[in-house]
Amino acid sequence: MNAEEIARERIRKLLQMAREVLGKDEKLSKRYVELAKRIAMRHRIKLGNKLFCKKCGTIFVQGKTLRVRVSNKIPVYVCLACGAARKVGARATFK
Ligand SMILES: [Zn+2]
Repeated sequence: MNAEEIARERIRKLLQMAREVLGKDEKLSKRYVELAKRIAMRHRIKLGNKLFCKKCGTIFVQGKTLRVRVSNKIPVYVCLACGAARKVGARATFK
């Protein structure tokens, strides 16, 4: 495994943990997202805008923190935590 693969694995785990603690500890959940973002930045890994809210750092979980609206055939992600709406395209997202 190279450094980037290790970083991706860590990001995946952090985002998973952020989902797990959601609803129990919002602060901790955001902290995990924050850490994932930091690792991504350091390794120049793109996370896209479908995983968490770029405004408040809340992890997106359909029905819990995320509502998907379609406007002119373009999906719009609405953060249920802060109300921020963002168009999401077919652009590559972190997997
Ligand atoms: Zn938000």
